Amino acid sequence: MTVVSRATWPEAVASRADAPIEHLYVHMPFCRQLCPYCDFNSYAGRDAEMGPYLEALEAELEAWSPWLRAKTVFVGGGTPTHGRVDVIARQAEAIGRHVRGPQLVEWTVEANPGTLEIAKVEALMAAGVNRVSLGAQSFHPTHLATLGRAHGPADTVRAIEILRRAGMPRLSLDLILAIPGQSLGEQRADVRRVVDLSPDHVSAYVLTYEPGTAFTRAWEEGRLPGPDPDRELAHLDATAEILEAAGLERYEISNFATPGNESQHNLAYWRNADWIAVGAGGHGHVRGKRWKLEDDPARYVARVRAGDVPVSFEEEVEADARAVEHLLMGLRLAEGVDIELVRERTGVDVAVTRAQALSSLEAQGLVRRAGLRLVATPAGRNVLDTVLGLLAEPDA
Ligand code: SF4
Repeated sequence: MTVVSRATWPEAVASRADAPIEHLYVHMPFCRQLCPYCDFNSYAGRDAEMGPYLEALEAELEAWSPWLRAKTVFVGGGTPTHGRVDVIARQAEAIGRHVRGPQLVEWTVEANPGTLEIAKVEALMAAGVNRVSLGAQSFHPTHLATLGRAHGPADTVRAIEILRRAGMPRLSLDLILAIPGQSLGEQRADVRRVVDLSPDHVSAYVLTYEPGTAFTRAWEEGRLPGPDPDRELAHLDATAEILEAAGLERYEISNFATPGNESQHNLAYWRNADWIAVGAGGHGHVRGKRWKLEDDPARYVARVRAGDVPVSFEEEVEADARAVEHLLMGLRLAEGVDIELVRERTGVDVAVTRAQALSSLEAQGLVRRAGLRLVATPAGRNVLDTVLGLLAEPDA
């Protein structure tokens, strides 16, 4: 366990950057029930801990506040909209006190269908939330049941009606692709349903089998079909085709938006910007310093009460590893990665240290140069792990 004082740690970390930190992640770990594929830091049946948890969150926010000038906030989970209206309102108000201001352009809260009601949405908006990311996942009852989700398709439609009635400015829908048993036709039907609901943003991730989840155990025991890269690519391609035809641009491999509605917070991650995280299990990053906070909400609360920043892990990332991270994140974006910015931020010129690998990848049509940017081609994006494997180490 790393013991770091709340009186000194935020300043020590934040002052590594040359300006206040512009991005804040807040983790709310509580859920109504646990989904069998999920490896997020989430807990069911512990709602009684929400009050002390919010107190701890407020103390952490207070400690970071002098070094924070948030342009974007993302409240993720868990299910940040799970809980009573007064708890949601307190959560939003506590965050709002530290982030409100003319610089704040985007404040997203993740929500699950079935947890939203008009009073909650109004409380979020009163605090300054201007974007909701709604976990639709599928519109097919069978596939939602396979995923162990607590909601049905009608709950998603109702949640969207509530958000629109309240006047929530921006709406993103999440879809899970290539669910076990889901045909390509059913995938297309799900995506067309999404288009009919007119979100300004869609996140569409292929289901992944994370270690330690009930899904992975079921696959290992032969009760569920496992990953199938060709099938997954077909589902992602079909999804992209329908969304792009509907005017949602594919600005990242799994993310689509109408012009101007890209997630500014997630773009900050993909551009390897600095961000602060508060809340159990949150990860933060400022100029090569990375840290992770205690996963368990009770331990998190206890450490905050003791005057500590509840860090469970911290590391200094070496310059070359930071440059690789820039590539890893930036090549997911349609805009690619600015290799001059990578050099400025890390001191590593990947055009020099990876000259041979880049020439080879260009010759194979997997990446291209666009001025100072390096961009994965459509073929390269389909084999991004291979591309990144070749760039992971400097040329021999
Ligand atoms: S609702 Fe979301 S965070 Fe909670 S268990 Fe399900 S997938 Fe995980």
